[in-house]
Amino acid sequence: MAKTGRTLDSYTVKSINKSIKPGDCVLMRSPDPANPSYIAKLKKIESDNRGSNVNVHVQWYYRPEETIGGRKRFHGVKEVFLSDHRDVQSADTIEGKCTVHTFKSYTKLDAVGNDDYFSRFEYISATGEFNPNKAVVYCKCEMPYNPDDLMVQCDGCNDWFHPACIDITAEEAKVMEHFFCQSCMSDEQKLLQSSHVIPRHSSMKAGSKRRRR
Ligand SMILES: [Zn+2]
Ligand SMILES: [Zn+2]
Repeated sequence: MAKTGRTLDSYTVKSINKSIKPGDCVLMRSPDPANPSYIAKLKKIESDNRGSNVNVHVQWYYRPEETIGGRKRFHGVKEVFLSDHRDVQSADTIEGKCTVHTFKSYTKLDAVGNDDYFSRFEYISATGEFNPNKAVVYCKCEMPYNPDDLMVQCDGCNDWFHPACIDITAEEAKVMEHFFCQSCMSDEQKLLQSSHVIPRHSSMKAGSKRRRR
């Protein structure tokens, strides 16, 4: 029946009274009501000739829990991965629309709504691999950035650190105005030591530093 179907530019899902079109991201009902909705990108909308059955061709987003490796510490609450897994589903299972942001635009959102997600890696469902398979890492623990985590930036090297990894609480981190990580701290100390040798020169340096920050 699908062979004789027609391709639709858009379609209104009656149950949610929303119009969908290829390229949109949608939430689809999981067969198990205990599970969260599936997240998919619409590739194509198709109806049979009578227009009574509408199917959507989708590309699935995987949640960290659904990947072979499972959820990692650096995965955000709203993180999903665009997978190579495609499917055809009835349009009736669509229960909402959502937005899957790039990582950059997600971190710039003023407020994260219920229907906001982000994707920074693609996922190959057969092998469990990610693309890209490397990410920039931060902190002493060398973790990729989790946008849900509070981090503090070192005024020396500009690297970012988890409060727990530098032995301070989140509350302390929030009120801290300046922070120097361990390795930058020792650079500062070297500067102080050399100020002993040539006091006039380096006190000038320290002064200009303070003013700049
Ligand atoms: Zn850390
Ligand atoms: Zn530093």
